[in-house]
Amino acid sequence: MKITALKTWPVPPRWLFLKIETDEGVAGWGEPVIEGRAATVEAAVHELSDYLIGRDPRRIEDIWQTLYRGGFYRGGPILMSAIAGIDQALWDIKGKALGVPVHELLGGAVRDRMRMYCWIGGDRPADIARNAAEVVAKGFTAFKMNGSPEMAIVDSHRKIDEAVARVAEARAAVGPDIGIAIDFHGRVHRPMAKALLRELEPFHPLFVEEPVLPEHLHCLPQIAGGLGYPIATGERLFSRYDFRPILEAGHVDILQPDLSHCGGITEGRKIAVLAETYDVAIAPHCPLGPLTLAASLQLDAVAHNAFIQEQSMGIHYNTGNDVLDYLVDPAPLQIADGYLPILSGPGLGVEINEAFVIERAKEGHRWRNPTWRHDDGSVAEW
Ligand SMILES: [Mg+2]
Repeated sequence: MKITALKTWPVPPRWLFLKIETDEGVAGWGEPVIEGRAATVEAAVHELSDYLIGRDPRRIEDIWQTLYRGGFYRGGPILMSAIAGIDQALWDIKGKALGVPVHELLGGAVRDRMRMYCWIGGDRPADIARNAAEVVAKGFTAFKMNGSPEMAIVDSHRKIDEAVARVAEARAAVGPDIGIAIDFHGRVHRPMAKALLRELEPFHPLFVEEPVLPEHLHCLPQIAGGLGYPIATGERLFSRYDFRPILEAGHVDILQPDLSHCGGITEGRKIAVLAETYDVAIAPHCPLGPLTLAASLQLDAVAHNAFIQEQSMGIHYNTGNDVLDYLVDPAPLQIADGYLPILSGPGLGVEINEAFVIERAKEGHRWRNPTWRHDDGSVAEW
């Protein structure tokens, strides 16, 4: 079997789909994208295609190593996202060629179903309480909320009070048994994070995510040491080499590799195994489309330390189209009672509606994240 073509389509709301075709008629799909830089990753995929055309797609590990090591410069969001989508498509091809789901090729499922969580929006406490109650009524056992808007490096304690009030409102709305994850999106700096993380402790977060920027993870021992709930991070780390130092530092409890940013299923598996050796959990990051979600679920199926899976259905980013729109049959990704069964179809376990992809790619997208400013006019973290 030989790779004959790589085709890409930018599609709403902010994704990029890749199809790898072969001379035997089997094709595989992947999602090589990083949010806000889809066109840059698309260019990288087509540059990497020089290493792929004519190659046997079943030699996934060798291709991965070639793409990673073959260009001399390596790592980072663009190259690792390009490799990620290619890797997903190669696993899809291999599974389809053999008629089995990817997790069968990785050793077989260690669980029957995967716990899922969703996002709730809302900036005012009243909206948060209402939205939290709604997702619990749908059967979810956990949800994630934004922790705070922009926060200056040293800011008023009122900002902390407001963040704590929002979490308090959510906890009051859903009771003690629902998992509340709080994402600070790297918006908080060390001087404020120390007080903020401690004041959240009474509300028993499921986890707190990116309490500081990935650049500042070295501060975690000072700001998160001794906290009675888990700290999560990893959506902006791109390989096992990026994850190793934070595991060694010992103050992260949950890794959140993104299967479209961290080199795909091949590298995601290695990150999960590395985490296992530190007794650290994984909860793959996934605010993206159906192929990233399917790839994440294939890893979740075989990773004993995977405990919950993010997904983006209904998230505020998903304007124009949503996760299930691009599937021939949405059933494999339809969440019931807060869980998804382990995917049973061949390859990634979802079938993409190619005609619909081509149609929506005519609109495409130029999604960018907002640029925020502090009160004094300086640029703020989003
Ligand atoms: Mg996040």
